[in-house]
Amino acid sequence: MERTLILIKPDALARGLAGTVLSRFEAKGLKIAGLKMLALTDGSLADHYSHLVDKPFYPGIAEFMKSSPVIAVCLEGREAVDVCRSLCGVTNARKAAPGTIRGDLSVSMQCNLVHASDSPESAAQEVARFFKKDELFAYQPALIKFLLAGDEM
Ligand code: ADP
Repeated sequence: MERTLILIKPDALARGLAGTVLSRFEAKGLKIAGLKMLALTDGSLADHYSHLVDKPFYPGIAEFMKSSPVIAVCLEGREAVDVCRSLCGVTNARKAAPGTIRGDLSVSMQCNLVHASDSPESAAQEVARFFKKDELFAYQPALIKFLLAGDEM
């Protein structure tokens, strides 16, 4: 099992699509291990987008990402990092394939609804950035037990 970090971005909240975005991951079969709403700060954004801070468009991204709270989700599943990146589609939503979250729901490069960690290494860093250990839950074995038991328990 692998864990990855998803951020449901301000445009998803503004458009009333937060639940839709989350449900695409759930419907695929990924399990929610942690979830919280939070306001990003200049510091957390600079850490999160450290590969972009020198780009001319970074101030615009920072303003956008601070324009409302975001929803951070830790998702768990087999090859969760790759599976979630594929579900999101490429960065430029206009080029993202139909069937992906960005491809189906956005026409923007910046306002592309969702972030997903791009490697197992960055997933580990990003999950630790947004969640304390006791905010993450491994409940799947119990759930499976109840589902398998049906009405017998
Ligand atoms: P991804 O989110 O697909 O991993 P990046 O890490 O390259 O892509 O970029 C982070 C986010 O910054 C993107 O999701 C998008 O919101 C924004 N972004 C990236 N490139 C641009 C750009 N050229 N113009 C405006 N916003 C951009």
